[in-house]
Amino acid sequence: MFRPPRPRFQQVDSDVFLIRGRLSNWVILYEDKALTVIDTGHRQEAALMQKSLAMVAARTGAQRVEALLLTHIHDAHAGSIGLVKVLAEHNVRILTSTRERSSTPTYSESAIGEQDGSRRPWHSRPIRRLWRPGQEEGIARADLNRMTSFEDDSALDVPGRPIPIPSPGHTLGHTAFFLPHQELLISGDAMVSTYPGTGHYGPQTLPAQMNDDNAAAQRTMVALLAVPAELYLPGHGPVGNLRNGRGF
Ligand SMILES: [Zn+2]
Repeated sequence: MFRPPRPRFQQVDSDVFLIRGRLSNWVILYEDKALTVIDTGHRQEAALMQKSLAMVAARTGAQRVEALLLTHIHDAHAGSIGLVKVLAEHNVRILTSTRERSSTPTYSESAIGEQDGSRRPWHSRPIRRLWRPGQEEGIARADLNRMTSFEDDSALDVPGRPIPIPSPGHTLGHTAFFLPHQELLISGDAMVSTYPGTGHYGPQTLPAQMNDDNAAAQRTMVALLAVPAELYLPGHGPVGNLRNGRGF
């Protein structure tokens, strides 16, 4: 019987968990028997995602997922968004920034058929392509319509009460999240701790060709380094320490 590998799992704080999938990270916050999930991992990681939810539920006693937040809509981070339909049917709130919602290309199922002339299996998935640098991405309009947006920078009314921090550059509507009581910054792809090919550990942006607006990405990273957090939980790489510039 196929058994998915155990996710690399790190309890960063009593109510904060970082899960490192094979292709990207996601974060789970616990509060009062409920969970907030930040990003979903790649769609190939759906089994790991489910397993990580079960692990956190077993450890915390959580009984439900209340919200899904998306730092941005790239396949490696929102790819298990196939879950979106399922989650929406279970009344899980799905949130991303207003700007990410409005700037992410969408497609309709009929447009795909016309454009590609064939339906490869992954076309039936909500997200159209595996993410490769410079390649256009898209998400099914129906899934975008299942999301709601947050606009301001006050704490979100979801378990863990993360504060969204607009962090444009990697994508135009990218959002990081700050947990002031735990002094944790969930930085997504606005600031990673390493990436294949970069060859070093420490706070860094993704390579320029991976950013929609690289100048903005550099400015964003300067702003994120000023957030009064001790640790950052990136979209790629291990948890990093902002005070000594290294990972654990
Ligand atoms: Zn990304």
